[in-house]
Amino acid sequence: MRSLVLEYIDEVYHDVLGDREGSVADYIPQLAEADPESFGIALATADGYVYEVGDSRRGFTLQSISKPFTYALALADRGVEAVGAKVGVEPSGEPFNEISLDPAGGQPRNPMINAGAIACASLVRGDTAADRFERIRRFYSQFAGRELSSNEDVYESEHRTGHRNRAIAHLLRAVGVIEEDPEISLEVYFRQCAVEVDCRDLSLMAAGLAAGGVHPASGERLLSPVLTERVLSVMTTCGMYDAAGDWAAQVGLAAKSGVSGGIIAVLPGQIGLAVYSPRLDRYGTSTRGALTCRRLSQELGLHFMHVGRAARSAIRASYDLTGNPSHREHSAAHLDVLRRHGSRAMVYELHGDLLFAATETVIREATARAGELELMIVDTRAVGEVADVSRRLLLGLRDQVLEHGCEVVLVGSGASFDAPQAESVVEHYLIMSDMDTAIAYCEDMLIARHSAE
Ligand code: GLN
Repeated sequence: MRSLVLEYIDEVYHDVLGDREGSVADYIPQLAEADPESFGIALATADGYVYEVGDSRRGFTLQSISKPFTYALALADRGVEAVGAKVGVEPSGEPFNEISLDPAGGQPRNPMINAGAIACASLVRGDTAADRFERIRRFYSQFAGRELSSNEDVYESEHRTGHRNRAIAHLLRAVGVIEEDPEISLEVYFRQCAVEVDCRDLSLMAAGLAAGGVHPASGERLLSPVLTERVLSVMTTCGMYDAAGDWAAQVGLAAKSGVSGGIIAVLPGQIGLAVYSPRLDRYGTSTRGALTCRRLSQELGLHFMHVGRAARSAIRASYDLTGNPSHREHSAAHLDVLRRHGSRAMVYELHGDLLFAATETVIREATARAGELELMIVDTRAVGEVADVSRRLLLGLRDQVLEHGCEVVLVGSGASFDAPQAESVVEHYLIMSDMDTAIAYCEDMLIARHSAE
């Protein structure tokens, strides 16, 4: 069956194809060889499905799109603090190749400009340039889901002509940000820039970041959630250099461009987008790439400030036990007890992901009612992700309502409360795997307590 999504992306592709603004980078001689007409789009979902249009399998070099990934590896190798002592996270508002160092300490402003990226290349573990580059190459390959390699001609070309980057590296050595022979850091940096990918690879690399550091197809964890968040934050504020503010306003996706004509754009939890077309605007970003990202973001509602359904109530349904929801055969006397006292037991059926905002609505509703209740059933069978803060809040809810004499029964496998807090949640709540048992339990409690009245 034809894919409506693919048809839509194809339509965008054909609209943008007519744009011939900008020019191909030639300051690295080998890059000038690129076909200016080439244009590919790949969109990967956070679960690894890839939609591809145009030259999505044509190879090109990563260039600056390598920077967020090497930054990630440096963070994983050395820790946030050690990397932070060498490289800042402030947008520089300046071009990518600016010699942009903090006036006080000499640190590069951020890891997305060349100065910061060369410093990060010096921080990745590995004694020789070859060892270190091999670790970097493997890390990128894991994100792409296939073995990537460096384009020797592009590497040679930049190594021979990259005088400005050489100046930056030596300056970083002079102020102590780089502690090794700067030629080693430069070799690693030039090689990482020359790693060859296509749009499909890039979309998966972007989707890996979108999925919180997990490869979308294999499910393998490549980067911790905390470090992924940090990388995406820095991409958001610094990834598009001196156009970062405009990009955040118009496109609203964490992104990184490279002078060979590639762009990646990430919407956390949802998609990884990659575009390739070598003609660049004055910021060194692919013109067709930027147009494509802007259009897809606007038409698909991908802007990260878009107010979606994430904060809607997690309570799908709530009801009390006056209506005998278990439909059990009760004696007339017991039915009468339920009719009179059933409102003292409430059922809350939850759904969606229990992130902070959604959980807050549950807690607010449940605590407001707790004074009138003896029993509360919280049905989590339809719940997806449970954030740590939500586990804590639900535990707090249990303690709080118990003080008012209300007992909480949790319905679910307990799987949504998996490690590491699982034990504590399961211990504190009475946990039942099906709703009928939970409701029957609560009915029996009410009948036992109130029959004599
Ligand atoms: N290798 C390129 C350079 O250092 C990367 C720059 C870029 O893609 N913006 O100049």
